[in-house]
Amino acid sequence: MSNESLDWFAHAKLDRLTALGLRRSVIDTERKDGVHIRRGERDMVSFSCNDYLGLTHHPAVQAAAMDAVAAHGAGAGASRLITGNHDLYGILEARLAALKGTEAACVFGSGYMANSGILPALAGPGDLIVIDALGHASMNMGARAARAEIKTFRHNDAEDLSALLTENRKTYGNCLVVTEGVFSMDGDRAPIDRLAAVAADNDAWLMVDDAHGFGVLGGGRGTAWEFDPHPDVPLQMGTLSKAVGVYGAFLCASAPVIELMKNRARSLVYTTALPPAVIASCIAAVDIIETDSERVVRPLQNAQAFCDAVGLPNPESPIVPLVIGAEQAALDASAALEDEGFLVTPIRPPTVPAGTSRLRFTFSAEHTPAQVVALADSVNGLSLPDNDMPVTGA
Ligand SMILES: *Cc1c(COP(=O)(O)O)cnc(C)c1O
Repeated sequence: MSNESLDWFAHAKLDRLTALGLRRSVIDTERKDGVHIRRGERDMVSFSCNDYLGLTHHPAVQAAAMDAVAAHGAGAGASRLITGNHDLYGILEARLAALKGTEAACVFGSGYMANSGILPALAGPGDLIVIDALGHASMNMGARAARAEIKTFRHNDAEDLSALLTENRKTYGNCLVVTEGVFSMDGDRAPIDRLAAVAADNDAWLMVDDAHGFGVLGGGRGTAWEFDPHPDVPLQMGTLSKAVGVYGAFLCASAPVIELMKNRARSLVYTTALPPAVIASCIAAVDIIETDSERVVRPLQNAQAFCDAVGLPNPESPIVPLVIGAEQAALDASAALEDEGFLVTPIRPPTVPAGTSRLRFTFSAEHTPAQVVALADSVNGLSLPDNDMPVTGA
């Protein structure tokens, strides 16, 4: 067999992951609605989905997809620059720009693709990209593709960013500062007001990836609207796959920046447009985010009720980490909760730093108060290892 070395290579890599306790597998999971799932023979309540508003299974969001398939077909057929730009794109982009208060918006295939394409369109060799130390893998992907100098600032530390820019900014052409609105593994919010001020003082452009804030914080408009007055962020990225419940991502920015994206972001130019049904569902979901304010606030309320019941600090978002430490201990805790009917996925390196393996709870508008109480009872009953790790992340 001529490809034997290929399989050996894969086996060796996998064996190493197994030895480190870092081997992962994908498990078939049937999602019955926003919170109920089935794995094998087991029915569970999920506290691991990013479907914060339960919109993946909302009747209006589903109906929009089915109508769009009937009207426009299953797929877009080409890149947006060729013939893939069905008219639903313009409608969704106008809605997103209005919601975010920017001149224009641009929809991408996914959050990963957006970050992979936006950064290289704005920075290149000789430029500087400064990323929060806990920034998402897709930001680092985009920064590497840009071939700009990459530096990190201490997590959520505007003073560290300021010192870094004071020392380095003048050496480079353009400078981008990139952070998340809500950090995906810790659930804490970026100090967007202070980061925006530091960026402005240093002629740097701030980009906030609000994958986990859009739809649930700031009345649904996002994390920046938790600040009063809300800071001016020139590059507002977000996903359509989490609270929006569908798929895709967006950048809201000025008209020339968006025009540049449609010309220069390779992950937009060289890929097929999203299916019409996806865009139609997103429009229906934005309708709900704009009108159902009671649904928008519920995920954070549920997170608050849980934190109160288990003695964790007040949550800043619907994401609540319970840092356990060792990989195996996090796996054991997750398995114990599964036995009680709760799906809470353990998060391990390389997604989080070594020694900070954790349970990551995400709360949905669809969780009932009784489900949250039952989860808290089970968590309080866990026997967790005694160690010096802090109880929460961040
Ligand atoms: C989930 C996530 C992404 C990727 O978005 P997808 O639409 O799932 O590709 C990007 N950035 C952050 C911060 C995320 O949490």
